[in-house]
Amino acid sequence: MTGKKKEATLQVSVINQEQWEEVLATKGLAVVDVYQQWCGPCRAVLSLLRKIKNELGDDLLHFATAEADSIDALEKYRGKCEPTFLFYGGGELVAMLRGANAPLLQRMIVEELAKEKSVLEQGGERKVINYVLDNEKIEEEVVHLHSEDGENIIVPASKSYTVAIIKPDVVAHGKVTEIIMKIQDAGFEILAHDERLLTEVQAREFYQHKSTEDCFEDLVQFMSSGPSHILVLCQLGDSASVVQAWLDFIGPTNIEEAMREKPESLRAQYGTQTLFNAVHGSEDSDRASRELAFFFPNISTASGTEQDAEEERVERTLALIRPDVARENREEIMDRINKSGFKVSLQRETLLTEEQVRQFYVQRIEKDYFPALLQSMTRGPVLALALTREDAVQQWKDMLGPSDVTRAKEENPECLRAQFAVGEHLINQLHGSESVEEAYREITFFFPVQQTLAVIKPDTMEEHKEKILEEIRERGFSVSRLEEKLLSRETAEVFYEKHRDQPFFNQLVEFMCGSTCLMMVLEKENAVEEWRAMMGPTDPDQAKVISPNSLRARLASDVLHNCVHGSSSQHHAEEEIKLVFGCMPELTDEDSLDEKTTGPHDVSPENYQHHQEEHESNTHRLQAGVNGGHEEASR
Ligand code: UDP
Ligand code: MG
Repeated sequence: MTGKKKEATLQVSVINQEQWEEVLATKGLAVVDVYQQWCGPCRAVLSLLRKIKNELGDDLLHFATAEADSIDALEKYRGKCEPTFLFYGGGELVAMLRGANAPLLQRMIVEELAKEKSVLEQGGERKVINYVLDNEKIEEEVVHLHSEDGENIIVPASKSYTVAIIKPDVVAHGKVTEIIMKIQDAGFEILAHDERLLTEVQAREFYQHKSTEDCFEDLVQFMSSGPSHILVLCQLGDSASVVQAWLDFIGPTNIEEAMREKPESLRAQYGTQTLFNAVHGSEDSDRASRELAFFFPNISTASGTEQDAEEERVERTLALIRPDVARENREEIMDRINKSGFKVSLQRETLLTEEQVRQFYVQRIEKDYFPALLQSMTRGPVLALALTREDAVQQWKDMLGPSDVTRAKEENPECLRAQFAVGEHLINQLHGSESVEEAYREITFFFPVQQTLAVIKPDTMEEHKEKILEEIRERGFSVSRLEEKLLSRETAEVFYEKHRDQPFFNQLVEFMCGSTCLMMVLEKENAVEEWRAMMGPTDPDQAKVISPNSLRARLASDVLHNCVHGSSSQHHAEEEIKLVFGCMPELTDEDSLDEKTTGPHDVSPENYQHHQEEHESNTHRLQAGVNGGHEEASR
């Protein structure tokens, strides 16, 4: 089975008519992100697509990106700046979504895939969209509108929401789809969407608070004159109140005022008179909760969804344990961390150069304590941890206590900074990120997304290949390349070149080119170390003692036949990946694309030696600079 290829690319990239036809000819459901050359495919949905693919793992589900400008069939989609997702089943358009509305996209993929399967398996009828699009008018049926019963709707308690109504006048004019797209493009997330014909009684009840106003009877008649669309909205990246944001987006109640003051608002664009003003929004959050209960009585916003709310708030923070304490009190500190409900999701011990400390503490370079901090940070390896739990940033700060060590001892003797203060040292020994944003930057600094080469060696291909793959995915690696290969003797020799003088070299080469290996490029934050840690020590006997849960401890038979390989540094990863695959794949994690940092070096003995020497000489230079200021570093 040599050279058997498995395509591990998430999205097939389509840039000409021929490739387009290939996609259409693929069996199953193809979800195509149609993009414009100048803005590129929609990165915002990449991790969602990867998640869906991993979860469904379905051979009938295909993702593609297609450049509108170079494919004739996509002519009508040219010049649109919002992301457009086209769903094809058996080469025919079955649904379409405009805007990167992640929850809706996810639901549509799941549903359309199920439909396509039933077409393929049970010979059901495929419902094809009759597609007419001129920029202005999009047929009602084109977009798959989502109507749901109340039970399925989850409104996270931590998010603010509002209730919007697309009123009967707009529905009658066939503008619902167009408005929905605008709503999504403006960054609103649609949590629920239902088409309803309100009875007179319901309309009366809904507008009860306006019953003394002159327009009341007319309003009731109008609202019960035809179907409306009821939406529950929250905001992507939820920050301030969505209630006000939505009111701003729809504009003033009075249409003339709307046209004059806010011509871009929905009411100015779609309303015709103050009575027929196209859309509704809850006046305040209290009204929003009443209106939600009115339309979706089965929704609960707190009880029953508490778990979801908790999940919403799970955060990561960066903890640093500075060299002195990392050496002496590591176990104790790790113990306190674990007992306080944090998960250590990433961990590395690393030597920082002065330059890296300056980069990391760029905002503190001017502080008078900086020289002391610099010295403290370069004294030896720093232990960096990404800690995960709900509200992690604040929780970790609370555990650390005040940044000023003297104050910490006085005010909160139990806190970590008081407990693990070193001698007369004025620099506290532990760091925590200040905010969620800072945590993101700091975690990226210490744990940049990396690629590493992982190999399932010939000895375990038969028995444990699937198991190992499963564990790799469970650990959150994404597999950006995957190929079974039979190494030639020459390649195996180059691969293990640095072991040429070892007594086991010939045996090793023999073993590695004896039958096929599974070659993979794994991608993750800190991937090189993460994968090495998962593999365990080279010798399985040693692995059983030091790292009993590691792959080698559990699956390997002896030091030569030790089931897996992993690159030992970023540099080696690059060399090995190029040797095996010919080139480095592009990083696919969208978060890492913009800031590709190399991060601090690994602690290697040579590195450490050199570093120590550098440090010694700096120590002298620094003596004068340490002025003993009480203001503290890492707050
Ligand atoms: N090896 C061996 N005997 C040894 C050391 C290594 O047979 O004493 C083999 C083993 O298969 C190992 C490979 O040589 O995986 C490369 O050795 P290295 O020290 O690079 O270990 P690794 O990086 O794989 O843990
Ligand atoms: Mg090695």
